[in-house]
Amino acid sequence: MANPLYDELFGIHAGQPTPFLHLTDGTIITHTDFLATAARIASLTALIGLKAGDRIAVQVQKSPEALALYAACVQAGLIFLPLNTAYTVEELTYFIENSGAALIVCDGANQEKLATLASRLGAQVETLNGDGSGSLMAKAASMPREFATVDRNSDDLAALLYTSGTTGRSKGAMLTQDNLLSNARTLVEEWRFTANDVLLHALPIFHTHGLFVATNVTLVAGGSMIFLPKFDTDEMIDLLPDATTLMGVPTFYTRLLSDARFTRDLTQHMRLFVSGSAPLLAETHVQFEDRTGHRILERYGMTETNMNTSNPYDGDRRAGTVGFPLPGVELKITNPENGATLPEGEIGQIEVRGANVFKGYWHMPEKTAAELRDDGYFITGDLGKVDSDGYVHIVGRNKDLIISGGYNIYPKEIELVLDEQPGVAESAVIGVPHPDFGETVLGVIIPQADQSPDLDGILDTLSQSLAKFKLPRKLVVLDELPRNTMGKVQKNILRDQYDTLFTGT
Ligand code: ATP
Ligand code: MG
Repeated sequence: MANPLYDELFGIHAGQPTPFLHLTDGTIITHTDFLATAARIASLTALIGLKAGDRIAVQVQKSPEALALYAACVQAGLIFLPLNTAYTVEELTYFIENSGAALIVCDGANQEKLATLASRLGAQVETLNGDGSGSLMAKAASMPREFATVDRNSDDLAALLYTSGTTGRSKGAMLTQDNLLSNARTLVEEWRFTANDVLLHALPIFHTHGLFVATNVTLVAGGSMIFLPKFDTDEMIDLLPDATTLMGVPTFYTRLLSDARFTRDLTQHMRLFVSGSAPLLAETHVQFEDRTGHRILERYGMTETNMNTSNPYDGDRRAGTVGFPLPGVELKITNPENGATLPEGEIGQIEVRGANVFKGYWHMPEKTAAELRDDGYFITGDLGKVDSDGYVHIVGRNKDLIISGGYNIYPKEIELVLDEQPGVAESAVIGVPHPDFGETVLGVIIPQADQSPDLDGILDTLSQSLAKFKLPRKLVVLDELPRNTMGKVQKNILRDQYDTLFTGT
């Protein structure tokens, strides 16, 4: 037996003193040193009685040690369960209870609060701070730098990754070794990753994007990463000259573009800019290309499936699309009412099948049965279409679809028009309860700096390009849209806020 995920991500680098992580203070962590840290942590987990299949809930700041903890879990056959650093201790209770974690690794600041919860649930607690200090590394330091890798099958669980909770309560996606490996191998080929790549890594490592896509691809290819604790425009501008690739969420790109130091010269040597996790505005695409000469490669993925689609590396990267299904991923558009496959160009729910698709939601059999079909297709919860050239377009979330007086209204269609209006920086369109129509359309507008958009004028313009039933019944102005840490607009918060606008109750 073997441990395919460990062998292909980490084992291949054993004994190689090649650079893996470049830290902002100039330190370079080699593969050898990284693997030794991971092996020490793995030895510690065995010493404290953890065994293959146990869940390790991890809520810590991004650090090389935190990443080594991921490697240690893979090596020891433990199920890695990273948690968003923004969650409060109260919010963590759900994840820790739901997962039945045997060990909680947390920031020292949260230790006391979590200790009570842990003792109630029979879990152990260790601390790991952003600077690598804390009980975990203090204990691991005296452990051997070699650990006998625990055998695993490619079908065994490697991670329990909770969804972002954009549309409701987070769900724990059970990801197998093969889910992660198959996707990493495909992306290395599709995006031409090699050992020469230096990925500028400013994403969090509690989410599929920064943890699996960026890290696993780099590890399989044998490249290295410039490892930033978090996105910071000044640091990004300083470090770009040393990188070859950047993976980011749309806000990375809008922030870089708002800085005059971000120039063509600074990016000339770069090989690839990737965007995902949330829609990239067409305007950002255009501005980025004008400024740098590079066309951002937009792709589409999710916690449950890693990556589903990508715009082509060679070829036409089309703004407003997420490209083609990756090799090995089947994608179809179906009618949400009856699951029937819809013809090209029609909007429906996006379903995907492939080695990348997760095994189900942890301890949520009903949710799993509702979203993962017997034939292996996963109902993503996203709405979209495939155009005549095969490009996939995401239209929005199923849950955000507005049904008003029997008509289906796709918020994105209206948002695209609103975004173009004078003085509007961005917008969100939601459905809110209405006594006659069931739901009606509400437009939320974020003005450009120092602008007060003419709302009546905008509604007037909209009425010229949109059918009457799609017209926002009202426009409201906010300073900013509620977003989660991955930059996703939280429409459920907006819906709650305006729930009684038209019903008055
Ligand atoms: P939850 O499932 O708990 O509501 P979530 O779906 O936001 O949370 P993630 O798995 O982090 O959790 O996000 C995946 C979702 O992000 C996709 O289903 C899709 O809606 C969105 N997404 C990802 N990439 C893109 C993209 N390039 N364009 C548009 N949307 C994207
Ligand atoms: Mg989701």
